Amino acid sequence: MISDRIKKLSPYKTETAQAKIRLSSNELPLHLPEDVRIRIAQEVSKIPINKYPDPNASELKEVLSEHLKVKEENIVLGNGSDELIYYLSVAVGEPNRGVFYPVPTFPMYEISAKVFGRERVEVPLDENMDIDLPLSLNAIKTHSPVLAFISYPNNPTGMCFTQSKIESIRQEGLFTVIDEAYFHFSKKTFLEDAIKREDTVVLRTLSKIGMAGLRVGILIAKEEIAYEINKMRLPFNITYPSQVIARLMLTEFYPLIEESINTVIKERDRLFGELSQMEGIEVFPSDANFILFRSNFPAERLYKELLVRGVLVRNVSYLPRLERCLRVSVGLPQENDAFLEALEDSLKSFT
Ligand SMILES: *Cc1c(COP(=O)(O)O)cnc(C)c1O
Repeated sequence: MISDRIKKLSPYKTETAQAKIRLSSNELPLHLPEDVRIRIAQEVSKIPINKYPDPNASELKEVLSEHLKVKEENIVLGNGSDELIYYLSVAVGEPNRGVFYPVPTFPMYEISAKVFGRERVEVPLDENMDIDLPLSLNAIKTHSPVLAFISYPNNPTGMCFTQSKIESIRQEGLFTVIDEAYFHFSKKTFLEDAIKREDTVVLRTLSKIGMAGLRVGILIAKEEIAYEINKMRLPFNITYPSQVIARLMLTEFYPLIEESINTVIKERDRLFGELSQMEGIEVFPSDANFILFRSNFPAERLYKELLVRGVLVRNVSYLPRLERCLRVSVGLPQENDAFLEALEDSLKSFT
């Protein structure tokens, strides 16, 4: 009795390989000192776990609204932005209208469209890993999708698409979701549009700023839009511990997060420089906390050579346009050094 739609899905892929240095999931390398951990444990120990959490996560929203400089009424929280992508895939337009997104991109847009049986209007990126505007406009004319997902910057390619191209797509009458999961590394945003316009929302997440384990995604929209989406939200979708810990991390311990973000930005630029110097490596510029690169060798073999040397990256070479490409998350300086050394060694092993 399970629908064919669901039977045809393949389970979500995550990296399960064991490795000393894990640079595969774009997590922030945030190491909490003992006293911080104790403080968190104390707060968590006070939680009455027999009670439901605040369904509106009001205290967390208050802190977020200060960070984002938007009203609490502009915010909808999700169990990760993944959940918000599900909500948007149901809430926007009628089910017989399609969903547009450039590919390759974040897999949840495709998964959500498939789950809800919506037509997928997928348009390959151009050779600069930017939106192919003529091809996109053509596909939009043909299929008239009603919803667009734009990863900004794009995962797994790393760069922000040209702003005017996104605006041209939106101009065709698509409700446009700007997924700014990597905002803290790009500093580029459509937030002002999201607050003002009925056709634009922004997604943020705590996952890439050191709190992936808490599962907190943030949708920012005009009040009327946020109100509608909030109606379909599962009532207690942000767990009690997540509400408590996220609030603490975004207030008292936020300087630790900022410090780690700044380190990653510096390291990203260093890593980019080092990779650019390496013979046989083509590296793509990044506005995010990861870097896409291509080698002359089969990606699966290079991936395994790195793994043998204790470094786990993401093999993205099966995606359109990304032949022989791997994606590496930016880690701590010593992790990045270990990656660079493993890469040089691995490349030598091919010759
Ligand atoms: C990592 C990532 C997310 C985060 O999803 P969460 O469910 O909030 O962990 C969202 N969008 C993109 C493009 C990402 O790369």
